[in-house]
Amino acid sequence: MTALYRRVIHVVSVSGGKDSLATLLIALERCGHANVIAIFCDTGNEHDLTYAYLIYLEQALGITIVRLKADFREQLLAKRAFIAADVRTRREYDTRPVFEADGKTPVPKRDGRGNIVLNKKGKPVQKTVKVGGGRRVRWSNKAKRRALAVMHPTGNPFLDLCMWKGRFPSRTAQFCTEELKRNMAVGFQLELMEAGHRVISWQGVRRDESQNRADAKKWERVGHRLRIARPLVDATAAQVFALAQSRGVQPNPLYLQDMSRVGCMPCINCNKAELRAIAARFPEHPARISEWERIVGQCSKHGYSTFMADAHPAKDRRVVFADLNIWARVEWSKTSRGGRQRNLLDDVENDGLGCSSSYGLCEQSDALSAQDIAKALGARAASNFLSLEPA
Ligand code: SF4
Repeated sequence: MTALYRRVIHVVSVSGGKDSLATLLIALERCGHANVIAIFCDTGNEHDLTYAYLIYLEQALGITIVRLKADFREQLLAKRAFIAADVRTRREYDTRPVFEADGKTPVPKRDGRGNIVLNKKGKPVQKTVKVGGGRRVRWSNKAKRRALAVMHPTGNPFLDLCMWKGRFPSRTAQFCTEELKRNMAVGFQLELMEAGHRVISWQGVRRDESQNRADAKKWERVGHRLRIARPLVDATAAQVFALAQSRGVQPNPLYLQDMSRVGCMPCINCNKAELRAIAARFPEHPARISEWERIVGQCSKHGYSTFMADAHPAKDRRVVFADLNIWARVEWSKTSRGGRQRNLLDDVENDGLGCSSSYGLCEQSDALSAQDIAKALGARAASNFLSLEPA
């Protein structure tokens, strides 16, 4: 670390979204440019406008945003060697749901910490137990050849991570936030602490975003050298937009293009309205995800993997993939609730929960329409919205 760093360093994790922008503005005003470091954890699954927006922010605020990008080259090389040499077998089991003694009340599934696991809709997932002797699962020679043909580092963190894991993340295994954002941000802060600095980590978390964030504290002591500051816990989305506007800083232009959140394009947890808007405005992104589904599927034992995974009754992976691949999801996003009927009138349907990370590293979906956002910004700001020139 260079001598430029002071004893207390304020690290703001910038995602390109409104909450991290407001947090950055507050940190800069309260602590001064010399004491604040803005970091951006690049997932490789971002919109080009977000990359351009970071440059705009640097010019508008007179700062440098440190880009952090995870690298999985070593893991991929190790995985290739493992697949090539793997002769192990393991078993895959059928399962049955577990009920309380009354035979009716479902027993909730709990994670390693004893917390109840929730599904995409925020409802408890039922506990299951293995049934029968199971089936043997291993890398067949065909699957090995298929995986080894494509499993080469691409330099894109999201794709490399999924190739390494042989699957896409999901709500119950959201390793993307951990590997691409949290570990990068924590690693950066650890380096500062190891160099003898105290760190204050600023997080753009609002309590009204989700249940996970409802109890977020404004100020938290994590360790001897690390504190967390969450200056926005009581703020609303409209107040956050208003704060940026009052400082003459434009929010990410994606907000006026029907995007209710900024971050991965798309996020594995994005809701129907958002996916529909992405497919309509930026069809190149579902096309890229479709290609990723092909590549990541080839890196899995079974040959299939879907970006937006969900429960499916079929055992045949081809059937599951046909129903849940990204293009099938895009078609689903055009239907009304329940997925059966196309609803042309419903433009603000919001039946997903977005990201549930309690670290504030992935922005949550807000049920704000482009009109709400334009209103919050005011007509003049909205008219300048698409320009990325410093105000
Ligand atoms: S949870 Fe969504 S926004 Fe966050 S890293 Fe994963 S895909 Fe990206």
